[in-house]
Amino acid sequence: MLDLVIYPDDRLHSQSAPVESISKEIAELAREMVETMRAAGGVGLAGVQVGRLERIFVLQVPEQDPQVFINPEIVNFSDKVATFEEGCLSIPGVYADVLRPAAVEINFFDETGRKKNLTTDGYLARIIQHEYDHLGGTLFYERMKSGAARRLLKAYEKRKGSEQE
Ligand code: ZN
Repeated sequence: MLDLVIYPDDRLHSQSAPVESISKEIAELAREMVETMRAAGGVGLAGVQVGRLERIFVLQVPEQDPQVFINPEIVNFSDKVATFEEGCLSIPGVYADVLRPAAVEINFFDETGRKKNLTTDGYLARIIQHEYDHLGGTLFYERMKSGAARRLLKAYEKRKGSEQE
């Protein structure tokens, strides 16, 4: 189990660097990230969220196998948009609707070093965009209107405060 980086933390606003080689160590990191994500009850987890500022994320859609995305590049976003409720393991306990493109096309490498291309929509496209944002240091509230983002962070601070009492 890896330790989660919890908001507020400067690392969450940092750019992640490309993974230089898809080594055994990176495959092991991906495995540990999947384990950590599952244990925390999440559906996606980026390297930065476990303190590794590298371009890697994992995700798991219910009823499917986990997937590993290394050095991903989203090469197409649909014009069509969709609203989904999002949460984040680094901002635990609060959720909000976020509007984003409904579909994406992404190029990436898996943990064996194989190059892949995926075009998808729905829940999977949503998780991909949320995790991809982490690699650029963007958190989901930054994709929301400022009033809604403020309300979300306020609810988060309140929740955190009451946990510490
Ligand atoms: Zn997140």
